[in-house]
Amino acid sequence: MTFDTRQKFIGAARCTAILIGTCLLSIGQNVPVPRNSFVIRNARVFDGRNVSSSSDVWVQDGYIKAVGMDFKIPAQVTVINATGDTLLPGFIDSHTHTWGDASREALVFGVTTELDMFTNPHYAATLKKQEAEGKDLNMADLRSSGYLATVPGGHGTEYGMPVPTLTSPGEAPAWVDARVAEGSDYIKIIYDDGSTYGRHIPTLSKETMKAIIDAAHKRGKLAVFHIGDQQGAKDAINSGADGLAHLFADSEPNADFASLVAAHHAFVIPTLTVLESVSSIPSGESLTIDPRLEPYLTAENIANLKRSFGQRPTHPSERYAETTVRELLVAHVPILAGTDSPNPGTAHGASIHRELELLVRSGMTQEQALAAATSVPAKEFHLNDRGEIAPGKRADLLLVKGDPTHDITATRDIVALWKLGTQDDRAAYQAEVASRRKQAEAVREAPAPPESASGVISDFESGKPDANFGSGWSVSTDSIAGGKSTGTMKVVAGGANSSRWALDVSGDIAGGLPFAWAGIMFTPGSHPFASVNLSSKKSLVFWAKGDGKTYRAMLFTQSGGRIPAQQSFTVGTEWKQFSFPLSSFNGTDGHDVTAILFVGGPQTGEFNFQIDDVQLR
Ligand SMILES: [Zn+2]
Repeated sequence: MTFDTRQKFIGAARCTAILIGTCLLSIGQNVPVPRNSFVIRNARVFDGRNVSSSSDVWVQDGYIKAVGMDFKIPAQVTVINATGDTLLPGFIDSHTHTWGDASREALVFGVTTELDMFTNPHYAATLKKQEAEGKDLNMADLRSSGYLATVPGGHGTEYGMPVPTLTSPGEAPAWVDARVAEGSDYIKIIYDDGSTYGRHIPTLSKETMKAIIDAAHKRGKLAVFHIGDQQGAKDAINSGADGLAHLFADSEPNADFASLVAAHHAFVIPTLTVLESVSSIPSGESLTIDPRLEPYLTAENIANLKRSFGQRPTHPSERYAETTVRELLVAHVPILAGTDSPNPGTAHGASIHRELELLVRSGMTQEQALAAATSVPAKEFHLNDRGEIAPGKRADLLLVKGDPTHDITATRDIVALWKLGTQDDRAAYQAEVASRRKQAEAVREAPAPPESASGVISDFESGKPDANFGSGWSVSTDSIAGGKSTGTMKVVAGGANSSRWALDVSGDIAGGLPFAWAGIMFTPGSHPFASVNLSSKKSLVFWAKGDGKTYRAMLFTQSGGRIPAQQSFTVGTEWKQFSFPLSSFNGTDGHDVTAILFVGGPQTGEFNFQIDDVQLR
C-alpha cells in the first residue's frame, strides 16, 4: 500500500493559494470538510460475500461512499494505491468475553467488532458509552449479552463474578427484563450439565430454558446458547434457540442434526479454536510463531495462546465439531466465526485468524470463511451498518497483502486497518508491545530477594505482622474500587502448630461490587506492586482457621495485570494447612508476583479468620 501524498498536498496547496478566506467561507457555508476520507485504489475487494479482482473504494466521513471504478475523486482526497492487496470488511468475532484491554487487542488484528457472550454489564456499558462518544476508534466495537442465564452453581458462576441466576420458568420474564434494562444486546443461555468435561453441575431445566427464549423473543432479543453436548444442542434448537454459541465436541453429529438446525433457521458459531483447546490441543501455538502476528502479541497473549484446557476425563474432540461444520454447510446453516477469547489457547483478535484457518479445514471455501467473519454475523445479529463493503456501510476496513481468497492465512498479513475511516496506528501498538515484553523479560531474569530463599514469608513469632522480605502485610479492601467493605488485622496469641502468635483478620463485606473483598495483602517487593521473581518456589502454603466461611487466596502478577488469579479455601475451627501450586493461579510460574492476598467476599457479611506460617515452597 502506498499513500499518494502528492494529491493531498496539491489539495492543501490549492486551498492556501486561492485564499484562506475561501476555505473558511466554505466551512461557514456548511460544505462538508472531508474527514476520514480517502480512496483505496486497485485493491482486490472481498465485499463480505464475493471477491472482485480490482475495485476502488471511496470512504468519506468514516463511511463508504462508493465502490467501483473510474469515479471522479476530488483533488484533496488521499488516494491509497493497493495494487496486489486485498480489502475486506473489518472482522466480527461472534464469541468473545470482553474485559480489560481486549477491545484494543482485538482491533490491532483486524477485529473491528466483538460480540461478547458474557461479561460484566457495567463494563460493557462503559465501553458502549465510549463508542457513542466516538472515543473508541482504537478499539473494537462491542455488542454484549451482559450476564448469562444460568442456575445457582451452574456454568458461568465459577468465575468469582456474582451472576443473577434463575431456576423456574416463572422467573424468566423478569430476568430478561433486567438484562434488557442493563443494555444486553442479546440473551445468552447456558444449557450444560458439565458431563462432556467430566463435571456434574446443575443446569436450567428444559422448561426454564424455553421460557427464557420466549421472554427474549417477546422483547426482540436473540437467544444464543452455550450447550455442552449434542443432546443439549438439539434441545436448545427444538426450544427455539436463534443460534449456538459453540458446537459440541462430545460426539459425531447424528444424521438428522444439520437438517434440524436448518429447519429451525438457527445459526451456529462453532468456536473450533476453543474446541481444540478443550481437546487439549494448544490451538493458538502456531499464531505465536507466525511473524505476521507475533510482533503484536503481548507476553500474556503468547502465554495464553500456548495453553489448552488440558486432559479431560472424558475425551471431547474438536474433530467431531469439524465434521458437524461440514454437514451444517451442506444443509446451508449460517456459520459464524467466533473464538471464545480469552479462554486458554486463544487471544482477542489474533485467534480469529486461527478460527478462519480451522473453518477452511472443515470444508468451507475461503470466501465462505471470510463471510463467516463479516457479512454473515452482521446479518444474523442485525448489525446492518457493517460486515460489507458497500455504499453507506461503516468504513471498518482491513487491507491485507496477498489474496486470502486463495490462502486464508493471508488475513494475518495486515497492511492497514481502519475503524470508521480512522486508520489504526499499529506501529505504535507494536512499539508498546515490544517495550512491555522487554520489561517482562527483565523481570523474569531479576534475582529473587535474598531473604526469600527460605521461603518463609511470615510466622508472626515476633508478635507483629512482619514479613521476612518485601514490604509486609497491610489491610486491603474494595474501598480502592469504590466499595464499602472494611477489614482489620492484628496479631493474636495461639498460632498453628502450638506456635505463639498468628495473624487475625476480620471485617465486613458490604457487597454492591461484583468482586467485593476485604482482607490482608502481602507485598513481596520493596514498594507496593513492584514485581518480584519468586519462580524458584512452586507452591503457596499456609495454615488457617476461623468461622467456617470460604475465603480466597489471590495472587497478583505483573503479567496478569489488574485481575488477580484466585483459589478458595474453607476454614474450620481447628488449624488446617492449605497448599496451592503457584501454577494453579492462572498458570503463573511466579516470576513476576506483585501481591498475595487472603480475603473474604464477595458474599456479604461479617467474617473472621486467622492465618499463620505463610510460606512459599
Ligand atoms: Zn464463551
